Amino acid sequence: MITVRGIQELISQITAMKKDLSKPGVTVGFVPTMGFLHEGHASLMKQARNKTDIVVLSIFVNPIQFGPNEDFESYPRDEKRDLAVAEKEGVDIVFIPSVEEMYPQPTKTTIQVSGLTERLCGASRPGHFDGVTTVVAKLFNIVQPDFAFFGMKDAQQVAVLTQMVNDLNMPVTIVPCPIMRETDGLALSSRNVYLSAEERSQALSLSRSLSVAQKASEEREDITISELRNLVISEITKSPAAVIDYVEVLTFPGLQPLAEEQQLEQIQEDVIVALAVKFGKTRLIDNHRLKKVEVLSRV
Ligand code: AMP
Repeated sequence: MITVRGIQELISQITAMKKDLSKPGVTVGFVPTMGFLHEGHASLMKQARNKTDIVVLSIFVNPIQFGPNEDFESYPRDEKRDLAVAEKEGVDIVFIPSVEEMYPQPTKTTIQVSGLTERLCGASRPGHFDGVTTVVAKLFNIVQPDFAFFGMKDAQQVAVLTQMVNDLNMPVTIVPCPIMRETDGLALSSRNVYLSAEERSQALSLSRSLSVAQKASEEREDITISELRNLVISEITKSPAAVIDYVEVLTFPGLQPLAEEQQLEQIQEDVIVALAVKFGKTRLIDNHRLKKVEVLSRV
C-alpha cells in the first residue's frame, strides 16, 4: 500500500499502477472518507476491493463542508490507525492531502445541486452539501475513478452525488453501500466517540425507532406517512436526552416530501425514513429505506 499526500504524485501513481497491471480495461475504485475509520468505511473498501482492480482511499477532513460553529477543528483524527485499517482491507493507494494541497487558495468555484439539498441535513447545515459536492468533484477529477463507493448512512449525500454525476456527465458510477451498525443497532460513525456512555445508550432509540417503522410497515398495509413518522418520533422521545433535529419520510432518491395522509403501499417510489437527533453536543443521523435500490447511476 502506498501513502500519497500530493495531487500530482497521486495521479502518477495511479497511471503507473494501471500500466503495471498491463491488461485492458483496468478499473479504479474510489472510497472518499474523512478518516477515523471504522467498519462502515471498511465495508466500502471491501466492496471496492471486490469490484475494482485499483482501490484508492482518500482521507481528508474537508473544511468547506463544515459550518462556522461545527466540529472541523475537533473532528477525530488517527492517521496511524487509519493506515492499518486501509492496509488490512487491501487498499492500494491512500491519499491524505493537506488543506493547502486541496485548496491552495479559497475556491471560487462551487458545485450546488438544487432540489435535493434544501431539506434534511441541508436545512440544518447550510452550505454543507455545496462543500461535499465541490470536494467530491475535485477528488473525482484527480482520481478519475470508474466506481465510487458511498455509504447509505449518508443517504442524502448518495442522492445528491448521484444527481451531480448524472447532471454533469461525470464518467463514474456511484455505488451505494449498506449501513453498518454495532451489534446493538447503533449506526457506526466517527462521531460516536463524542458520546458519553449514557448518551450512547440513549442513542439506541434511533435504530430502534427505524425498526419500529419497518415492522409497522410490514404489519399494516394501510399505514400512512404521518403514522410512520409519529411512531419514529415517539420511540426516539422515550430517550430523555434526545433533541430531534428532523424526522422525515421522503421519496428516495428524489427526497420529495410525501402527503401526511398518503398510505405507504400506494406510493410508487422508494421511501426513506431519515432522522437527525442530538444527544448532548453530538448530532447523529440515521435512516432506513422501506424499499431498496442497488446502483443508482451508470454513465
Ligand atoms: P465520513 O468519513 O463520515 O465522511 O464517511 C465516509 C464514507 O463512509 C461515506 O460514504 C459514508 O456514508 C460512509 N459511512 C460512514 N458511516 C457508515 C456506516 N455506518 N455504514 C456504511 N457506510 C458508512
